[in-house]
Amino acid sequence: MTELIDDLSKESEEAVFKRIELRWHGLQKLRNLLGDVSLDYEPLGGYEVFSTSDTAAFEIGVAKMEYFNRMLKPLTGTSNTYSNADEKINEFGFNNVNHMVLNQCEGQINTGKMMEALVNLAHKTGVKIINGLSISAVHNSEKNTLINCEDGFSFKSKRTLIANNGFAAALLPEIAVVPARAQVLITEPIPNLKIKGSFHFEKGYYYFRNVGNRVLLGGGRNLDFKGETTAEFGTTTIIQNKLEALLNEMILPDAKYTIEMRWSGIMGVGESKSTIVRQVEGNLYCAVRMGGMGVAIGSLIGEMGAKMILESL
Ligand SMILES: Cc1cc2nc3c(=O)[nH]c(=O)nc-3n(C[C@H](O)[C@H](O)[C@H](O)COP(=O)(O)OP(=O)(O)OC[C@H]3O[C@@H](n4cnc5c(N)ncnc54)[C@H](O)[C@@H]3O)c2cc1C
Repeated sequence: MTELIDDLSKESEEAVFKRIELRWHGLQKLRNLLGDVSLDYEPLGGYEVFSTSDTAAFEIGVAKMEYFNRMLKPLTGTSNTYSNADEKINEFGFNNVNHMVLNQCEGQINTGKMMEALVNLAHKTGVKIINGLSISAVHNSEKNTLINCEDGFSFKSKRTLIANNGFAAALLPEIAVVPARAQVLITEPIPNLKIKGSFHFEKGYYYFRNVGNRVLLGGGRNLDFKGETTAEFGTTTIIQNKLEALLNEMILPDAKYTIEMRWSGIMGVGESKSTIVRQVEGNLYCAVRMGGMGVAIGSLIGEMGAKMILESL
Protein backbone atom coordinates (compact mmCIF):
# COMPACT_ATOMS: atom_id res chain seq x y z
CA MET A 1 0.00 0.00 0.00
CA THR A 2 2.82 2.43 0.77
CA GLU A 3 4.20 1.85 -2.74
CA LEU A 4 0.82 2.88 -4.17
CA ILE A 5 0.66 5.91 -1.87
CA ASP A 6 4.14 6.89 -3.08
CA ASP A 7 3.02 6.41 -6.71
CA LEU A 8 -0.06 8.59 -6.10
CA SER A 9 2.19 11.42 -4.89
CA LYS A 10 3.94 11.39 -8.29
CA GLU A 11 1.30 10.31 -10.79
CA SER A 12 -2.40 10.74 -11.49
CA GLU A 13 -4.94 8.43 -9.86
CA GLU A 14 -5.86 7.17 -13.34
CA ALA A 15 -2.27 6.16 -14.16
CA VAL A 16 -1.77 4.37 -10.82
CA PHE A 17 -5.00 2.35 -11.00
CA LYS A 18 -4.48 1.55 -14.68
CA ARG A 19 -1.16 -0.04 -13.73
CA ILE A 20 -2.81 -2.07 -10.95
CA GLU A 21 -5.33 -3.24 -13.56
CA LEU A 22 -2.50 -4.20 -15.88
CA ARG A 23 -0.83 -6.22 -13.11
CA TRP A 24 -4.08 -7.96 -12.22
CA HIS A 25 -5.02 -8.84 -15.81
CA GLY A 26 -1.41 -9.75 -16.63
CA LEU A 27 -1.34 -12.27 -13.79
CA GLN A 28 -4.71 -13.72 -14.85
CA LYS A 29 -3.32 -14.08 -18.38
CA LEU A 30 -0.18 -15.82 -17.15
CA ARG A 31 -2.19 -18.20 -14.96
CA ASN A 32 -4.65 -18.97 -17.76
CA LEU A 33 -1.81 -19.50 -20.23
CA LEU A 34 0.28 -21.91 -18.17
CA GLY A 35 -2.04 -23.14 -15.41
CA ASP A 36 -1.53 -22.82 -11.65
CA VAL A 37 0.13 -26.24 -11.35
CA SER A 38 2.89 -25.35 -13.83
CA LEU A 39 3.50 -22.10 -11.95
CA ASP A 40 3.36 -23.61 -8.45
CA TYR A 41 0.92 -20.79 -7.77
CA GLU A 42 0.09 -20.35 -4.08
CA PRO A 43 -2.45 -17.72 -3.00
CA LEU A 44 -0.84 -17.16 0.41
CA GLY A 45 -1.40 -13.38 0.45
CA GLY A 46 1.07 -10.53 0.65
CA TYR A 47 1.83 -8.56 3.78
CA GLU A 48 3.22 -5.08 4.18
CA VAL A 49 5.39 -4.99 7.28
CA PHE A 50 5.83 -1.85 9.41
CA SER A 51 8.66 -1.63 11.92
CA THR A 52 8.68 0.57 15.01
CA SER A 53 10.16 3.41 12.96
CA ASP A 54 7.40 3.17 10.29
CA THR A 55 4.46 4.17 12.49
CA ALA A 56 3.77 7.34 10.50
CA ALA A 57 3.71 5.40 7.20
CA PHE A 58 1.36 2.82 8.76
CA GLU A 59 -1.05 5.53 9.95
CA ILE A 60 -1.11 7.11 6.49
CA GLY A 61 -1.80 3.66 5.02
CA VAL A 62 -4.61 2.89 7.49
CA ALA A 63 -6.25 6.22 6.67
CA LYS A 64 -6.21 5.26 2.96
CA MET A 65 -7.22 1.60 3.35
CA GLU A 66 -10.94 2.17 2.86
CA TYR A 67 -10.19 4.26 -0.27
CA PHE A 68 -7.98 1.53 -1.80
CA ASN A 69 -10.50 -1.20 -0.99
CA ARG A 70 -13.30 0.81 -2.61
CA MET A 71 -11.23 1.58 -5.72
CA LEU A 72 -10.05 -2.04 -6.09
CA LYS A 73 -13.37 -3.81 -5.52
CA PRO A 74 -14.47 -3.70 -9.19
CA LEU A 75 -11.16 -5.32 -10.13
CA THR A 76 -10.56 -7.87 -7.37
CA GLY A 77 -14.24 -8.58 -6.63
CA THR A 78 -13.68 -8.33 -2.87
CA SER A 79 -14.44 -5.46 -0.48
CA ASN A 80 -11.38 -6.25 1.61
CA THR A 81 -8.35 -6.42 -0.67
CA TYR A 82 -6.39 -4.87 2.20
CA SER A 83 -6.97 -5.58 5.88
CA ASN A 84 -5.12 -5.23 9.15
CA ALA A 85 -3.08 -8.33 10.02
CA ASP A 86 -1.44 -7.30 13.31
CA GLU A 87 -2.66 -10.51 14.95
CA LYS A 88 -0.31 -12.53 12.72
CA ILE A 89 2.93 -10.79 13.76
CA ASN A 90 3.61 -13.26 16.58
CA GLU A 91 2.60 -16.25 14.47
CA PHE A 92 5.36 -15.41 11.95
CA GLY A 93 7.91 -14.82 14.74
CA PHE A 94 9.07 -11.35 13.63
CA ASN A 95 10.98 -8.92 15.80
CA ASN A 96 10.66 -5.12 15.75
CA VAL A 97 7.48 -5.32 13.66
CA ASN A 98 4.62 -3.18 14.98
CA HIS A 99 2.00 -3.58 12.30
CA MET A 100 1.12 -5.60 9.21
CA VAL A 101 -1.38 -5.05 6.41
CA LEU A 102 -2.56 -8.06 4.39
CA ASN A 103 -3.27 -7.91 0.67
CA GLN A 104 -5.32 -11.08 0.29
CA CYS A 105 -5.08 -10.96 -3.53
CA GLU A 106 -1.33 -11.39 -3.67
CA GLY A 107 0.23 -14.78 -4.35
CA GLN A 108 3.53 -16.40 -5.18
CA ILE A 109 4.82 -18.52 -8.04
CA ASN A 110 7.97 -20.45 -8.89
CA THR A 111 9.53 -18.38 -11.67
CA GLY A 112 11.92 -21.18 -12.68
CA LYS A 113 8.92 -23.41 -13.37
CA MET A 114 7.22 -20.50 -15.13
CA MET A 115 10.15 -20.14 -17.55
CA GLU A 116 10.24 -23.88 -18.15
CA ALA A 117 6.52 -23.93 -18.95
CA LEU A 118 6.84 -20.88 -21.24
CA VAL A 119 9.74 -22.44 -23.16
CA ASN A 120 7.83 -25.74 -23.53
CA LEU A 121 4.76 -23.89 -24.78
CA ALA A 122 6.83 -21.87 -27.25
CA HIS A 123 8.42 -25.05 -28.63
CA LYS A 124 5.01 -26.73 -28.97
CA THR A 125 3.66 -23.69 -30.80
CA GLY A 126 6.55 -23.75 -33.27
CA VAL A 127 8.43 -20.73 -31.93
CA LYS A 128 12.18 -21.10 -32.46
CA ILE A 129 14.33 -20.06 -29.52
CA ILE A 130 17.98 -19.47 -30.37
CA ASN A 131 20.25 -19.30 -27.36
CA GLY A 132 23.88 -18.28 -27.15
CA LEU A 133 23.77 -15.27 -29.46
CA SER A 134 24.63 -11.96 -27.88
CA ILE A 135 23.22 -9.16 -30.04
CA SER A 136 25.44 -6.09 -30.36
CA ALA A 137 23.25 -3.91 -32.64
CA VAL A 138 20.00 -3.87 -34.58
CA HIS A 139 19.74 -1.62 -37.66
CA ASN A 140 16.56 -0.62 -39.41
CA SER A 141 16.49 -0.55 -43.20
CA GLU A 142 13.76 0.05 -45.76
CA LYS A 143 12.57 -3.54 -46.09
CA ASN A 144 13.83 -5.29 -42.95
CA THR A 145 16.18 -5.11 -39.98
CA LEU A 146 19.77 -6.27 -39.73
CA ILE A 147 20.76 -7.95 -36.47
CA ASN A 148 24.46 -8.06 -35.64
CA CYS A 149 25.80 -10.52 -33.08
CA GLU A 150 28.93 -10.14 -30.97
CA ASP A 151 30.77 -13.01 -32.64
CA GLY A 152 30.44 -11.35 -36.06
CA PHE A 153 27.44 -13.39 -37.19
CA SER A 154 24.47 -11.39 -38.54
CA PHE A 155 21.01 -12.08 -39.90
CA LYS A 156 18.02 -10.22 -41.31
CA SER A 157 14.46 -10.11 -40.09
CA LYS A 158 11.35 -8.49 -41.58
CA ARG A 159 10.47 -6.94 -38.26
CA THR A 160 12.30 -6.93 -34.92
CA LEU A 161 10.76 -6.45 -31.48
CA ILE A 162 13.40 -5.69 -28.86
CA ALA A 163 12.07 -7.09 -25.58
CA ASN A 164 15.13 -7.38 -23.35
CA ASN A 165 13.85 -4.96 -20.70
CA GLY A 166 16.68 -3.59 -18.52
CA PHE A 167 19.31 -4.56 -21.07
CA ALA A 168 17.66 -2.47 -23.79
CA ALA A 169 19.68 0.65 -22.96
CA ALA A 170 22.71 -0.84 -24.76
CA LEU A 171 20.75 -1.56 -27.98
CA LEU A 172 18.39 1.41 -27.90
CA PRO A 173 20.14 4.38 -26.27
CA GLU A 174 17.35 6.69 -27.48
CA ILE A 175 14.73 4.83 -25.38
CA ALA A 176 14.30 6.02 -21.77
CA VAL A 177 15.01 2.75 -19.97
CA VAL A 178 17.85 2.12 -17.51
CA PRO A 179 18.97 -1.10 -15.86
CA ALA A 180 18.27 -1.55 -12.15
CA ARG A 181 20.01 -4.40 -10.40
CA ALA A 182 18.26 -6.22 -7.54
CA GLN A 183 20.24 -8.41 -5.14
CA VAL A 184 18.80 -11.50 -3.52
CA LEU A 185 19.75 -14.22 -1.04
CA ILE A 186 18.13 -17.49 -0.02
CA THR A 187 18.63 -19.55 3.13
CA GLU A 188 19.04 -23.30 3.44
CA PRO A 189 15.82 -25.06 4.54
CA ILE A 190 14.82 -24.05 8.08
CA PRO A 191 12.98 -26.68 10.19
CA ASN A 192 9.56 -25.45 11.36
CA LEU A 193 9.78 -22.18 9.46
CA LYS A 194 6.92 -19.96 10.63
CA ILE A 195 6.86 -17.60 7.64
CA LYS A 196 4.31 -18.28 4.89
CA GLY A 197 3.46 -15.74 2.20
CA SER A 198 5.08 -12.70 0.61
CA PHE A 199 6.18 -9.69 2.62
CA HIS A 200 7.19 -6.14 1.65
CA PHE A 201 8.48 -3.14 3.47
CA GLU A 202 9.85 0.36 2.86
CA LYS A 203 7.64 1.16 -0.15
CA GLY A 204 8.42 -2.18 -1.71
CA TYR A 205 12.22 -1.71 -1.68
CA TYR A 206 12.51 -4.91 0.35
CA TYR A 207 10.71 -8.17 -0.35
CA PHE A 208 10.84 -11.57 1.29
CA ARG A 209 8.88 -14.78 1.05
CA ASN A 210 9.03 -18.42 1.97
CA VAL A 211 10.15 -20.81 -0.75
CA GLY A 212 8.99 -24.07 0.82
CA ASN A 213 10.80 -23.92 4.16
CA ARG A 214 13.50 -21.48 3.04
CA VAL A 215 13.44 -17.68 3.19
CA LEU A 216 14.20 -15.66 0.06
CA LEU A 217 15.01 -12.00 0.69
CA GLY A 218 15.84 -9.27 -1.80
CA GLY A 219 16.11 -5.52 -2.02
CA GLY A 220 18.21 -2.68 -0.73
CA ARG A 221 18.68 -0.96 -4.08
CA ASN A 222 17.73 2.28 -2.32
CA LEU A 223 21.00 2.05 -0.32
CA ASP A 224 23.03 2.65 -3.49
CA PHE A 225 20.89 3.72 -6.44
CA LYS A 226 23.94 4.82 -8.41
CA GLY A 227 25.90 1.59 -7.96
CA GLU A 228 22.83 -0.55 -8.70
CA THR A 229 22.06 1.27 -11.97
CA THR A 230 23.94 -1.39 -13.88
CA ALA A 231 23.30 -4.30 -16.25
CA GLU A 232 26.24 -6.22 -14.71
CA PHE A 233 25.24 -9.10 -12.45
CA GLY A 234 26.88 -9.15 -9.02
CA THR A 235 26.48 -8.59 -5.30
CA THR A 236 27.91 -5.91 -3.02
CA THR A 237 28.91 -5.95 0.64
CA ILE A 238 26.80 -2.95 1.63
CA ILE A 239 23.55 -4.49 0.35
CA GLN A 240 24.26 -8.10 1.35
CA ASN A 241 25.19 -6.94 4.89
CA LYS A 242 21.90 -5.06 5.14
CA LEU A 243 19.94 -8.13 3.95
CA GLU A 244 21.70 -10.29 6.54
CA ALA A 245 21.04 -7.73 9.28
CA LEU A 246 17.34 -7.79 8.38
CA LEU A 247 17.27 -11.58 8.59
CA ASN A 248 18.98 -11.56 11.99
CA GLU A 249 17.16 -8.66 13.58
CA MET A 250 13.69 -8.74 12.10
CA ILE A 251 12.75 -11.73 9.94
CA LEU A 252 14.41 -14.71 11.66
CA PRO A 253 15.41 -13.43 15.11
CA ASP A 254 15.06 -16.84 16.79
CA ALA A 255 15.95 -19.27 14.00
CA LYS A 256 19.30 -20.86 13.25
CA TYR A 257 19.94 -20.65 9.52
CA THR A 258 22.66 -20.52 6.88
CA ILE A 259 22.59 -18.66 3.60
CA GLU A 260 22.78 -21.01 0.66
CA MET A 261 23.01 -18.64 -2.30
CA ARG A 262 23.26 -15.00 -3.28
CA TRP A 263 22.58 -13.62 -6.75
CA SER A 264 21.23 -10.64 -8.64
CA GLY A 265 18.79 -9.89 -11.45
CA ILE A 266 18.36 -6.90 -13.73
CA MET A 267 15.13 -4.92 -13.97
CA GLY A 268 14.27 -2.18 -16.47
CA VAL A 269 13.13 1.14 -14.98
CA GLY A 270 12.86 4.81 -15.89
CA GLU A 271 11.50 8.16 -14.74
CA SER A 272 8.01 6.81 -15.27
CA LYS A 273 6.78 3.40 -14.13
CA SER A 274 4.91 2.84 -17.39
CA THR A 275 6.15 0.42 -20.05
CA ILE A 276 7.39 1.46 -23.50
CA VAL A 277 5.66 -0.52 -26.24
CA ARG A 278 6.14 1.24 -29.54
CA GLN A 279 7.69 1.46 -32.97
CA VAL A 280 11.24 2.73 -32.61
CA GLU A 281 11.92 3.30 -36.28
CA GLY A 282 10.65 1.69 -39.51
CA ASN A 283 10.73 -2.08 -38.96
CA LEU A 284 12.17 -1.88 -35.48
CA TYR A 285 9.89 -2.04 -32.40
CA CYS A 286 10.34 -2.37 -28.65
CA ALA A 287 8.44 -3.62 -25.59
CA VAL A 288 10.61 -2.71 -22.61
CA ARG A 289 10.73 -1.03 -19.14
CA MET A 290 8.69 -3.44 -17.03
CA GLY A 291 9.40 -1.36 -13.90
CA GLY A 292 10.12 -4.42 -11.75
CA MET A 293 6.67 -5.85 -12.58
CA GLY A 294 7.49 -8.03 -15.59
CA VAL A 295 6.32 -11.29 -14.04
CA ALA A 296 2.92 -9.71 -13.46
CA ILE A 297 2.57 -7.69 -16.65
CA GLY A 298 4.98 -9.44 -19.06
CA SER A 299 2.32 -11.70 -20.65
CA LEU A 300 0.13 -8.73 -21.55
CA ILE A 301 3.03 -6.54 -22.68
CA GLY A 302 4.43 -9.37 -24.81
CA GLU A 303 1.04 -9.78 -26.43
CA MET A 304 0.81 -6.03 -27.11
CA GLY A 305 4.26 -6.13 -28.75
CA ALA A 306 3.33 -9.16 -30.88
CA LYS A 307 0.04 -7.53 -32.00
CA MET A 308 1.90 -4.35 -32.94
CA ILE A 309 4.22 -6.35 -35.20
CA LEU A 310 1.38 -8.41 -36.74
CA GLU A 311 -0.62 -5.27 -37.53
CA SER A 312 2.38 -3.78 -39.32
CA LEU A 313 2.78 -6.73 -41.71
C1 LIG B 1 15.18 -9.86 -7.81
C2 LIG B 1 14.02 -9.57 -8.69
C3 LIG B 1 12.72 -9.75 -8.19
C4 LIG B 1 11.62 -9.51 -8.99
N1 LIG B 1 10.38 -9.72 -8.47
C5 LIG B 1 9.29 -9.50 -9.25
C6 LIG B 1 7.99 -9.72 -8.75
O1 LIG B 1 7.80 -10.11 -7.60
N2 LIG B 1 6.94 -9.51 -9.56
C7 LIG B 1 7.10 -9.07 -10.84
O2 LIG B 1 6.11 -8.89 -11.54
N3 LIG B 1 8.33 -8.85 -11.34
C8 LIG B 1 9.43 -9.03 -10.58
N4 LIG B 1 10.68 -8.78 -11.07
C9 LIG B 1 10.82 -8.21 -12.40
C10 LIG B 1 10.78 -9.24 -13.47
O3 LIG B 1 11.70 -10.26 -13.19
C11 LIG B 1 11.15 -8.58 -14.81
O4 LIG B 1 10.30 -7.46 -15.03
C12 LIG B 1 10.99 -9.59 -15.94
O5 LIG B 1 11.93 -10.63 -15.79
C13 LIG B 1 11.20 -8.91 -17.29
O6 LIG B 1 11.07 -9.90 -18.28
P1 LIG B 1 11.68 -9.68 -19.70
O7 LIG B 1 11.50 -10.95 -20.45
O8 LIG B 1 11.12 -8.40 -20.27
O9 LIG B 1 13.24 -9.40 -19.44
P2 LIG B 1 14.33 -10.35 -18.79
O10 LIG B 1 13.69 -11.37 -17.90
O11 LIG B 1 15.36 -9.44 -18.19
O12 LIG B 1 14.95 -11.11 -20.04
C14 LIG B 1 15.75 -10.44 -20.97
C15 LIG B 1 16.49 -11.50 -21.76
O13 LIG B 1 17.19 -10.88 -22.81
C16 LIG B 1 18.52 -11.39 -22.85
N5 LIG B 1 19.38 -10.35 -23.44
C17 LIG B 1 19.63 -9.11 -22.94
N6 LIG B 1 20.42 -8.42 -23.77
C18 LIG B 1 20.70 -9.24 -24.83
C19 LIG B 1 21.50 -9.10 -26.01
N7 LIG B 1 22.15 -7.97 -26.28
N8 LIG B 1 21.57 -10.16 -26.87
C20 LIG B 1 20.89 -11.31 -26.61
N9 LIG B 1 20.12 -11.50 -25.50
C21 LIG B 1 20.04 -10.47 -24.61
C22 LIG B 1 18.87 -11.67 -21.39
O14 LIG B 1 19.92 -12.60 -21.32
C23 LIG B 1 17.55 -12.23 -20.91
O15 LIG B 1 17.44 -13.61 -21.18
C24 LIG B 1 11.80 -9.03 -10.30
C25 LIG B 1 13.10 -8.84 -10.80
C26 LIG B 1 14.18 -9.10 -10.00
C27 LIG B 1 15.56 -8.88 -10.57
